[in-house]
Amino acid sequence: MNPFNPFNDDHDLLRQSFREFLQHEVMPNVEQWESEKHCDREMFRKMGQNGYLGVTFPEQYGGSGLDLWAAVVIAEELAYANIGGLAMSLYAHTYLPLPLINAVGTEEQKLRYLAPALCGDKVAALAITEPGAGSDVGGIKSMAKDMGDHYLLNGSKMFITNGTMADFVVAVVRTGDGPYDMSVFIVDTNLPGFKAIPIKNKLGMHTSDTAQLFFEDCKLPKSALLGNIGNGFYYIMNNIQEERLIAAVMGWASAEWALFKGMQYAKDRHAFGRAIGKFQVIRHKLAQMAIKTEACKSMAYRAVYEYLDQGSGAIKIISMAKAFVSEQCQDVINECLQIHGGWGYMEDYGIARAWRDARLMTVGAGTTEVMHEIISKLIVDEVRHKHQLVPHRAAH
Ligand SMILES: Cc1cc2nc3c(=O)[nH]c(=O)nc-3n(C[C@H](O)[C@H](O)[C@H](O)COP(=O)(O)OP(=O)(O)OC[C@H]3O[C@@H](n4cnc5c(N)ncnc54)[C@H](O)[C@@H]3O)c2cc1C
Repeated sequence: MNPFNPFNDDHDLLRQSFREFLQHEVMPNVEQWESEKHCDREMFRKMGQNGYLGVTFPEQYGGSGLDLWAAVVIAEELAYANIGGLAMSLYAHTYLPLPLINAVGTEEQKLRYLAPALCGDKVAALAITEPGAGSDVGGIKSMAKDMGDHYLLNGSKMFITNGTMADFVVAVVRTGDGPYDMSVFIVDTNLPGFKAIPIKNKLGMHTSDTAQLFFEDCKLPKSALLGNIGNGFYYIMNNIQEERLIAAVMGWASAEWALFKGMQYAKDRHAFGRAIGKFQVIRHKLAQMAIKTEACKSMAYRAVYEYLDQGSGAIKIISMAKAFVSEQCQDVINECLQIHGGWGYMEDYGIARAWRDARLMTVGAGTTEVMHEIISKLIVDEVRHKHQLVPHRAAH
């Protein structure tokens, strides 16, 4: 496989058909959805019916059974459509809760939740963050108590994407007092005691549904437990690698979208008797944006290759890609806005939307600081290991 073009004919066909789908079904509505802060539930059904929700999931549950590069195609095309809110809603459905069900769910759970979610009949959410604990997952307080024939769930979750639309929420909660004594449950949102309050005052990602969730004496059947009791922390740490990988892919493609927009505007806009792209300072800005975009792409693709090879063992490169791409893509989009001058600040060119949506990149799915924390621990171990193998180096 050519590392610079990992896509085969199937991927190219998927890209073409998904791009056409977005052009017909999404692009004409973007401005309206954004201004109304509307998240379109019907879009899940249309995407599911056309096979775009489950490209990497097994065919027996309604997926297409394709490799991870197919998910890369979907993520890139969503980024090129420049509607971050919709992309995030779909991402929070497909890449957050569903891989967990696919990995550790029972056959009954897969038929009841995974299959209808892949065809878009059910919407899913993943709930980890709480009002008092985000990066520090060990600090979550929501608790499910084993009552013999059921679990009794109490607590609250914060900033949950798809929170008010979801038919079920995959929730990570405490099941014991130990620091990482956590388990994962599938919570039907029609259960008595479940409540979702929409959060509307977001900076960006307007076409996404964000909510605070409340569990008040929710009686969960024993069959709601996903995987083994007490393994929740381990499951989500494994699952989050793919989530971060897809975030990095979306980030590089958003940077490329902005680079293209910046180049187009620099050609069309005239000042002082010439196209602004003729000014060296603008040309150099574009060159720097191109370098950053290329670096983001290389990093994201390398992380995909390593993930395909090593699974969640590729944690270092995935964390690096997430940290690097999310910071750099914000820079590229920011420069693109600058090239657009006052028009960049308006809604007319889409760049203002890209700018505010991209701001979430360094916060969601693990902040940049948390990525640095992970990477710094891993490289310290690596360096120590290398110096043990070659003792004379340690002396220098
Ligand atoms: C629009 C939106 C959608 C979201 N969707 C979901 C969702 O679907 N499901 C879900 O579970 N969550 C979701 N989140 C939550 C998101 O994952 C968290 O906001 C994020 O993990 C950061 O947690 P926090 O907000 O509690 O910040 P905190 O963890 O309180 O962090 C605050 C600051 O402290 C820094 N910090 C924290 N710990 C360290 C450390 N050890 N070293 C250095 N610095 C540190 C952070 O980097 C950050 O800058 C969403 C958030 C938003 C805004």
